[in-house]
Amino acid sequence: ANYFSDFLQQRGANFHYKSEILELHKDLDNQETFTLKGRLPSRLPTFTTFDAVISTLPSPVLLKIEKNVLPESYRKQLSKIQYLGAQTVVYETTKPVLPRTYWLSIALPKSPWMVAVQHTNFVHARHFNNHHILYMATYTNKPLDEHLWKKRHLDIIWQHSVFIPYAQPLYTTDYHRYMPQTITPVPGLYIANMERTYPYDRGTNHAVVVGKQAAEKLSLFKRSE
Ligand SMILES: Cc1cc2nc3c(=O)[nH]c(=O)nc-3n(C[C@H](O)[C@H](O)[C@H](O)COP(=O)(O)OP(=O)(O)OC[C@H]3O[C@@H](n4cnc5c(N)ncnc54)[C@H](O)[C@@H]3O)c2cc1C
Repeated sequence: ANYFSDFLQQRGANFHYKSEILELHKDLDNQETFTLKGRLPSRLPTFTTFDAVISTLPSPVLLKIEKNVLPESYRKQLSKIQYLGAQTVVYETTKPVLPRTYWLSIALPKSPWMVAVQHTNFVHARHFNNHHILYMATYTNKPLDEHLWKKRHLDIIWQHSVFIPYAQPLYTTDYHRYMPQTITPVPGLYIANMERTYPYDRGTNHAVVVGKQAAEKLSLFKRSE
């Protein structure tokens, strides 16, 4: 990722890491361009104008931040998209938690976790300072209580848990009817998010494919004079 971002920066791309996009507007003076209201942590919001926008946000987030950009019928289409959230936790330990197993699926109704993956049974612990890495995850629409993942144990060196509100789009039987396409009804606005990987499950390979699709469409885009 660092190699790729250096490569793009040498060609004039700017990256605004850790910036949150708060609002997407049509430019007041020129209805053909977009204004993004964004904010770096603990800074005042800034406004930047763009000729075109590729949204990689989950639709529920795009619907929250867009201000009179999308036509009502398209908002209705996107509002049908549902998601599952997920909670993940990583433990760095002095000893492996699962000595011989790499991937353990957990199908117990009372377990808060669906999977435990002893990553260092796949990639050797020597790549992690001879420490062992255990990853656990589950789908949930609200964050798990801290006591379910925060553990006190002598073998634990470090632990970190994340709740992801939009982790997995739900492919319902009529999903193909409202799945967003790369091109939206708004000229200059494109979609390249996880919802575009149907009929395949979301994954990083597919994220590259939908990104390329959006870049191709954008390269053909011309504003009317
Ligand atoms: C628990 C879990 C396990 C997974 N395991 C695998 C796996 O093993 N293999 C695999 O190939 N794929 C896996 N995936 C799927 C993979 O992570 C996704 O398919 C991929 O990250 C999608 O890339 P994306 O760029 O479309 O979206 P994302 O990576 O979700 O990027 C969207 C970004 O937008 C940011 N964002 C949200 N709101 C705003 C805002 N208002 N302003 C600015 N930024 C915002 C988010 O923070 C996020 O960084 C997994 C996903 C989950 C949730």
